[in-house]
Amino acid sequence: MEMNRAGQRHDVLVVGGGNAALCAAIAARREGASVKVLEAAPRFYRGGNTRHTRNMRCAHDTATDTLTGPYTEDEFWDDLKRVTQGHTDEELARYMIAKSKPMLGWIAEQGVRFQPSLGGTLSLGRTNSFFLGGGRAMLNALYQTAERLGVEIEYDAEVVGLDIEDGHFLSAQVRREGGRTEAVRAGALVAAAGGFEANIEWLKEYWGPPAENFLIRGTPYNRGTLLRMLLDNGVQEVGDPTQCHAVAIDARAPRFDGGIITRLDCVVFGMVVNKLAERFYDEGEDFWPKRYAIWGRLVAHQPDQIAYIVFDSKSLTSFMPSLYPPIRSDTPEGLAEALGLDPQRFRATLDGFNGAIVPGGSFDHTVLDDCRTEGLTPPKSHWARPIDTAPYYAYPVRPGITFTYLGVKVTKEARMLMADGRPAANMFAAGEIMSGNVLGRGYAAGIGMTIGSVFGKTAGEGAARRARN
Ligand SMILES: Cc1cc2nc3c(=O)[nH]c(=O)nc-3n(C[C@H](O)[C@H](O)[C@H](O)COP(=O)(O)OP(=O)(O)OC[C@H]3O[C@@H](n4cnc5c(N)ncnc54)[C@H](O)[C@@H]3O)c2cc1C
Repeated sequence: MEMNRAGQRHDVLVVGGGNAALCAAIAARREGASVKVLEAAPRFYRGGNTRHTRNMRCAHDTATDTLTGPYTEDEFWDDLKRVTQGHTDEELARYMIAKSKPMLGWIAEQGVRFQPSLGGTLSLGRTNSFFLGGGRAMLNALYQTAERLGVEIEYDAEVVGLDIEDGHFLSAQVRREGGRTEAVRAGALVAAAGGFEANIEWLKEYWGPPAENFLIRGTPYNRGTLLRMLLDNGVQEVGDPTQCHAVAIDARAPRFDGGIITRLDCVVFGMVVNKLAERFYDEGEDFWPKRYAIWGRLVAHQPDQIAYIVFDSKSLTSFMPSLYPPIRSDTPEGLAEALGLDPQRFRATLDGFNGAIVPGGSFDHTVLDDCRTEGLTPPKSHWARPIDTAPYYAYPVRPGITFTYLGVKVTKEARMLMADGRPAANMFAAGEIMSGNVLGRGYAAGIGMTIGSVFGKTAGEGAARRARN
């Protein structure tokens, strides 16, 4: 590729168009830098996975207009330590948590509005701030503010090459509409271009052929092109490439961008079988908010990466449904046939499940109740009720990948570290592309946006300072 070094020059170049990118761009501009944003997607699809979000997790010492009770830094840290099982960088994590407190106010100053927590299955009214109008409205506010401040934004502008010399960013090659490429030079780079979850070939390097059956919940534009180029240019890698946030979503969802309306939260109300009509995990192990993020991986390990959540008419209205109606039948055998499962085997699994339920339990999905099985492998530890009241229902589910954790290693100034341990001269990163620094594994709802906002602002400010010196 021919480098056009005579191209434009800015103080700060931000690559990406989601929350992390916009927070960085606004912060850099507010520090007085000239800022260019390159977003691969067309304007209508701008904003990557951020478009699909609803909330952000921030520490706060007292209740606010839209949040109940305090959520202290220590509690946030305990939650993060627990969900990651200690696979996190404590210094960076504590920095993020401390900065999440003023972030609520800062985000609001950029025009984003909040609303009280939505009802539903994840009870987050104390810990997570919900965006009024969701992630799209949040993004629209950030874009409007960035434009008003004079940030230059280009759409259909995928970065396809980087000119980096010895950890020093010089320019990016951008492919514009029509395939023309051009160099954009800048004094500093902020990489905020998401993970590689939409790159099935890359996922297959770690997951093998099963990745063909994964559904990608968010944008098709997060293909990891920038991440790959940074790693190839000697930036230090962080995170396990197989780790990601993955939930079970409706198998009928589109390959990309299905968003939140394809998620299914009814596992605790039923029994989950694979295509051999066999159960494979305890559906009632713990409260759903603590377990929903393991089911994507569990289904990924089943034959053909598919499973079926089976329940009966008792539970039909107990949870938020997906966009698609459940598959329904008046008999268990009829349901099995509709799902393409062996009816006899399905019947045997169902009878085994129903027969193992300890009688006399009192069902209450708001506590770890005493409705459980005995002598069944795997058990169902809570909320086990016989599935015996027609009509019978099922949702087919597949792994829905939210985002990947492999990324570039950063300092708490959001500055990239090179493979030899030296900080990069003028390269910063924020959001999914560096989430592996904080999330070695596991997830707590709302942390994706905390990572993007906190490190986005930090990266933007650092890049502006660096570019001006
Ligand atoms: C359905 C769904 C619901 C979610 N809900 C929540 C939630 O409620 N709360 C929460 O905290 N997290 C949630 N998440 C996770 C959250 O979306 C991400 O953690 C967060 O949005 C990441 O922000 P980001 O700016 O790093 O990436 P993104 O918002 O994905 O932005 C990345 C951007 O980079 C662009 N890009 C990629 N490659 C290039 C390139 N080579 N050149 C130029 N541009 C490029 C993309 O087009 C995109 O605009 C959800 C995710 C999904 C999929």
